[in-house]
Parts: sequence; C-alpha cells; structure tokens
Amino acid sequence: MTKVTKQIKCGDLYVGGNNKITVQSMLNTKLSDIDNSIKQLELLELNGCDIIRASIDSEDDAKAINIVKNHTKMPLVADIQFDYKMALHAVKNGADAIRINPCYIGSEDNVAKVINVCKDNNIPIRVGVNSGSVKKEYLEKYNGVNKLSLVESALEQVRIVEKYNYENIVISIKASDVRLTYDANIELSKRTDYPIHLGITESGSEEDGIIKSSMGLGSLLLMGIGDTIRVSLTEDPVREVIMGRKILQYLGLRPYGIEVVSCPTCGRTKVDLINIVKDVKKAISPIKKDIKVAIMGCAVNGPGEAREADIGIASGNGEALLFKKGEIITKVKESEIIKVLLEEINKLN
Ligand code: SF4
Repeated sequence: MTKVTKQIKCGDLYVGGNNKITVQSMLNTKLSDIDNSIKQLELLELNGCDIIRASIDSEDDAKAINIVKNHTKMPLVADIQFDYKMALHAVKNGADAIRINPCYIGSEDNVAKVINVCKDNNIPIRVGVNSGSVKKEYLEKYNGVNKLSLVESALEQVRIVEKYNYENIVISIKASDVRLTYDANIELSKRTDYPIHLGITESGSEEDGIIKSSMGLGSLLLMGIGDTIRVSLTEDPVREVIMGRKILQYLGLRPYGIEVVSCPTCGRTKVDLINIVKDVKKAISPIKKDIKVAIMGCAVNGPGEAREADIGIASGNGEALLFKKGEIITKVKESEIIKVLLEEINKLN
C-alpha cells in the first residue's frame, strides 16, 4: 500500500502526498561553467528530468543559479557540503531547495542561519545520510552501518530542522548496498511522514548501476515507498534520467511514451527478431504515445503472449501478422513490418 507522505513544494513542483513520483539527476558540470551547465540542463529536461541538483562550492556557483534557472522549468536543488555560507548564497540567488547535512555544517548558529533562510523563503531542505556519513555516535550505538544507524542518523538531522519549527523537509537514506538501502528506507518510512528521496549511491556504471537501482528503487516503489528518485550512475546524467523514467514506467507509476515488449526468441523464430526489435525501437522513439507495442517471434504463441499490448507483430517465415490486443488483423511482408507498424501506431489515440 502506498504510503502517503506530506506534500512539499519545490519550485513549481509538488513532491510527496499523492503527487506523481519525480525523477531527479545531478549536473556533473560546475554550475559556474554556465554555458555547459545550461546545455546539460536543457538536455536533461528534454529527456524527462523533473528536478535538477547542482553542487554549490563557490560564490560563483551560487550566482550562476540565477542565470541557469532562466533556461529551465525544473526546480534547482543546491547541494551544499560543509560551508553554510554557500547555502545562504544559494538561497539568495534563487535555489528552489537546499540539500545539506546539518551535522556537517558546524556550529548550531550556522545551522540555524541556513534553516531560517530556507524558512523565510519557504524552500524545502533535503537532509539525510548515506552509508559513508553515519555519525560515529550511531555507528558505536548500533554496531556499524546498518538500517538503525542510518535511520537514527537521518532522523537526528530531521529533529535539528524541526527544532526551528520548520517541517519543509525531504529525507534520503542511501547506501551502495541494495538490501541495506531497502531495509533502511522501510524502517524510515515507518517512522516518518516526510517525503522520501530514493537512490542507491555509488551504484556503478552501465548494467551494474542500472540493475542495482532497478532492484533497490523498484522494490521500495512497489511497497509504495519513495516520492522522488535518482538513479545514480557513473555515466552521462541523461542516462540516469532515462533509467529513472523506465523504472517508473515499468512499475506502472508514470507513463513515458511507447513501451516495447518483445519475446526472447527461441527455436521457432524464423526472422532476425533481435534486429527487427532494434529497428522498430529506433523508428518509434520520436512518437509520444503511452501505448504498448509487442514484437513477437511467432504467430502461434506471439499474439496470445502479448495480449495486453495495444498493437504488435508476430513474425512468421518472411512475413508477419499484425495484431491488436491479441487479435490478428492482417498479414504484412517482412520488409514492410516497420512501415505498417508505424502507420497503425499513428492511427491509435
Ligand atoms: S513468441 Fe514464439 S518465437 Fe517468441 S519465444 Fe515465444 S514461442 Fe518462441
């Protein structure tokens, strides 16, 4: 059952409550490198990114917030490491949210300054912890990094913000270990109503990162836990966004255009199905319709196996059957598969 969290507002976007789950990424440019930051930001937005985070390590980075924000509708989250002054500069320059670890900011006076400036501007604060930043006190109390030390560490940060009567909070607990992230977020969700940002940290590149994130985020999202997600990859951030979208789409949480289902091929397949699928996916990629297209290897099992698809083809020997919702409509030559499929997809509402 979906956990309904508190709703917060980040820029023009609502996070938590019953709102759609958002996809985030982080710029890997220095924000003060304005041209490249804008280029990356626009590309991320085009690919479906909802919220963008940027590290703010200098006054120049903070000043750039104002400029780059004119090029995007995405709320911009300023990621602050240790220097509280960067948080103040970021808010002054229009940051839509701040990500801090209050325990790293130093004196309580400095923490108070950051919280108060966020409060004055009504912008959310994301707090949280990853497996590498659990406080020593909790490591000792709970015997190392585990779900309890992670959750306690994160909730301590929440209490610090709440002490200043501010509840505009998002929490994240991340680990590179999938099971630990899963266990800790279940525990966190039991103990708080604040929106939760999900991610597997340092998950790696390519299939490693994608599989870890899909398992970790997917299992939690299926339990109704998670209001916003980031797939962290050692890759171009655009890939993070595409993978995040796919996770939400394949869990049925947010539609993102055409979903292609295709059979794994077997001894009955008589066409080069692997390349047909590649070509069809390329041909349909510009089409923005929330439908399911099936590409199956045989006419006997294909349509039945892909009954839930809106439209599809089942290949035979040099030809293919076109089917809708599992019912065969017509027969097409192998060379015309893509053309006919595109025509039929265009006819669908
Ligand atoms: S749909 Fe047909 S070709 Fe594809 S795996 Fe199933 S039986 Fe084999």
